[in-house]
Amino acid sequence: MVVGDIATGTDVLVIGAGPGGYVAAIRAGQLDLDVTLVEKDAYGGTCLNHGCIPSKALITATGVAHEAANAEEMGIHADPAVDMGGMVEWKDGVVDQLTGGVEKLCKANGVNLVEGRAEFADGNTARVAHGGEGQGSESIEFEHAVVATGSRPIEIPGFEFDGEHVLSSREALSLDSVPDSLVIVGGGYIGMELAGVFAKLGTDVTVVEMLDEALTGFSDDLAKPVIDNMEELGVEIRLGEAASEWHETGDGISVTTETEDGEETGHDCEKVLVAVGRQPVTDTLNLEAIGLEPDDGGFLATDDRARTDVGNVFAVGDVAGEPMLAHTGMAEGQVAAEVIAGEPAALDHQAIPAAVFTEPEIGTVGMTPEEAEEAGFEPAVGEMPFRASGRALTTGHTEGFVRIVADAESGFVLGGQIVGPEASELIAEIGLAIELGATLEDVAATIHTHPTLSEAVNEAAENALGHAIHTLNR
Ligand SMILES: Cc1cc2nc3c(=O)[nH]c(=O)nc-3n(C[C@H](O)[C@H](O)[C@H](O)COP(=O)(O)OP(=O)(O)OC[C@H]3O[C@@H](n4cnc5c(N)ncnc54)[C@H](O)[C@@H]3O)c2cc1C
Repeated sequence: MVVGDIATGTDVLVIGAGPGGYVAAIRAGQLDLDVTLVEKDAYGGTCLNHGCIPSKALITATGVAHEAANAEEMGIHADPAVDMGGMVEWKDGVVDQLTGGVEKLCKANGVNLVEGRAEFADGNTARVAHGGEGQGSESIEFEHAVVATGSRPIEIPGFEFDGEHVLSSREALSLDSVPDSLVIVGGGYIGMELAGVFAKLGTDVTVVEMLDEALTGFSDDLAKPVIDNMEELGVEIRLGEAASEWHETGDGISVTTETEDGEETGHDCEKVLVAVGRQPVTDTLNLEAIGLEPDDGGFLATDDRARTDVGNVFAVGDVAGEPMLAHTGMAEGQVAAEVIAGEPAALDHQAIPAAVFTEPEIGTVGMTPEEAEEAGFEPAVGEMPFRASGRALTTGHTEGFVRIVADAESGFVLGGQIVGPEASELIAEIGLAIELGATLEDVAATIHTHPTLSEAVNEAAENALGHAIHTLNR
């Protein structure tokens, strides 16, 4: 300890107040553990402040404007004017409400909140530096620690984020004016979601993707409706092009891309947004002090109880590896807290859903038909296209389908893939079916409200059983 330090002790030290950390801390508090949560920046982490919530707020707001402007078919003639400042202010209000909520919930569950940057000093002690100069530091002794320090955007050489010309998703979500033109480097889910936002705001958007496909990781039939819709919105998607450098021109910048054959193209634009993935924040924790070594990607390996190789240290959320999603972090945070409290909790990574909030949305959970086959099942597959759904027709969004995958022999639901309206919500039903060990018959026999989009899940199950009513059976 250095002179001037204050020292405190806690059962559970949680480092980082994103969805992994704050959930671990709240759950530990509920289980009557003495818990201290250290956050260097803002409660809610990336998810609430710079990720899930702000992006979804802007997706919704720009969607409202776009829907209104394109509703002639419904007899609506509107020409909405978007006030970017007002939109960002509304989005910030949503964020403030949620981050304030996290702070209140932590306090209500007895969590001690400490502001500052934590790093390990030894196997049972962390040092927390409080903000700026003269604000001191403290040592916290802990029985157990939960590392929940999240991730940061990956920079590519020559494209250091400057907030002016070269943006990360964080800055792109807080612009006070709409750029005329934007090059987005990276056609993953973050790049594609933001491409939709800016295209709907009237920005001339070009997505450059080094690989031969965008939305890699999602099968072609799921990605295609999204890509078609992007192109309809005017987004240019350039595959097989890697961004290599940029320079200022008289009235903006030019981003150079290169194909594998060395062919170069210059893309003039106002700004470039780099969304090529995220890397874990484990390099600032002085992990050597506790003898914990991250893997080559910087991630911390954990077992199914969120425990690292160091027995009293747990890791949850983005630092614990893929899938780097908020709900994975929350689930891991709960498990870590329960294991520390001596409960028989463990992680089940089988039914983790994923969603892309593009237009149309994509939602997936569990196995695809191919994965089911690889795992040794004979898959029974049922589909329901949204164009045959009465509710989809009344929303004006009929692109896409629901697919359900089951084991033909037992009928157990193994997975589902949805592309279409509200796919991010609908996928939860298939997730629940997997989690409960439900069969196709269970899903088919569940009476769904009419007219709803969720009827399509019921209908897909009936289709897999060969007795769908509203579609032709396969
Ligand atoms: C644009 C964007 C959109 C996204 N959309 C979605 C989505 O729709 N759905 C979804 O599931 N996921 C989404 N994600 C991913 C999601 O945000 C992350 O998976 C999630 O935030 C990870 O949670 P976490 O708790 O592991 O870390 P984080 O949320 O990153 O939180 C980590 C916290 O730790 C703090 N910290 C770091 N180091 C220290 C230290 N030494 N001392 C103290 N505090 C420290 C940080 O300040 C931060 O607050 C999105 C991400 C982005 C960037």
